[in-house]
Amino acid sequence: MANYKNLIEKMINLYIISNGIHDSAVIDAIRSIPRHSFVEESFSELSYTDAPLPIGHKQTISGIYTAALMTSVLELNKNHKVLEIGTGSGYQTAILANLASEVYTIERIRELSLKSRTILDNLDFKNITFIIGDGSIGFKEYAPYDRIIVTACLSEIPKSLIDQLKDGGIIVMPVEIDYKQNIFVIKKNNDKIEKKIIASANFVKLIGKSGFAA
Ligand code: SAM
Repeated sequence: MANYKNLIEKMINLYIISNGIHDSAVIDAIRSIPRHSFVEESFSELSYTDAPLPIGHKQTISGIYTAALMTSVLELNKNHKVLEIGTGSGYQTAILANLASEVYTIERIRELSLKSRTILDNLDFKNITFIIGDGSIGFKEYAPYDRIIVTACLSEIPKSLIDQLKDGGIIVMPVEIDYKQNIFVIKKNNDKIEKKIIASANFVKLIGKSGFAA
């Protein structure tokens, strides 16, 4: 896609900066990633709008504002080890891998995990570990994590995720309560947990042991 750099700039201005996100590290990461590579060719142009688009298996790539918002609240740096639950297309994974040291990303649908891996390998990312399985209980083999991001909706904050978070760590995740989804930011300091809602949301459900039934 020849003109995608212009489309990225437009997307950044229209959906990120004009909605109040000015985090230059996050914006630079988004600027460096060809978002159209993560969707079917027929959705190439639409991938630079704010629409959540289908990626197969009844799943979606999150809208760009939501991806930028959730990344910015993680306050990532190059020392951070991140767990992402819900690899999906791999686009959010690319943003995280651009900003952090290591990313562990878990996806329950094998085909999506393998497809995202091919895309991210082609883009030359070397700091991503792909896991296929149920991430609703986190992934304790590589814990603890500095940051955890969940990109599908749960009905509560699983204790296992809090346990797998380092002290000083941050989790961002959508939670559905009374049929209404909100994005929560959870901070852990000296074993005290602080929770804050930052936006409403409309994610697909997280299916699994600590999630919704399939
Ligand atoms: N962030 C992704 C992107 O940029 O494309 C979009 C993620 S999509 C909204 C949510 C993903 O979570 C889907 O791919 C879905 O299969 C996955 N998922 C649902 N339940 C899961 C679970 N228990 N463990 C891991 N992944 C899960």
